Amino acid sequence: MQIALSKISTTPKDFQAESGGLSLCGSLERISRDVVALKARLKGEIELVCDRCGKSFTLPQDQELDLKLSDSLIETQDDLDIIEFLDGIIDIEYIIQSEIESQKALYNYCKDCSDREDYEIEF
Ligand SMILES: [Zn+2]
Repeated sequence: MQIALSKISTTPKDFQAESGGLSLCGSLERISRDVVALKARLKGEIELVCDRCGKSFTLPQDQELDLKLSDSLIETQDDLDIIEFLDGIIDIEYIIQSEIESQKALYNYCKDCSDREDYEIEF
């Protein structure tokens, strides 16, 4: 699902999209000339591979996303949650995929392994 950033107004626009087993459902609202706020709920399951035993498993997701989107390079570094869509097109699937990628970048353990208390996470 792609939405032109320029079409988002101060009236919240609802959206719903799915990608990779997750759904993202919420609204987009302009909060300044260059910035659109995304408030949405991410639900579903992420397929992961256990970093300990190599078994694949699913991790249920249910979390609120509160992001800022912009089609300009934002110079302040105060707001680290800003996502730039420099071509002016908000790509909702891209946002979902980046949530999946950031989860995959963590150490993930299946239920069997995370139930065990007799190991230490190796860094
Ligand atoms: Zn495991």
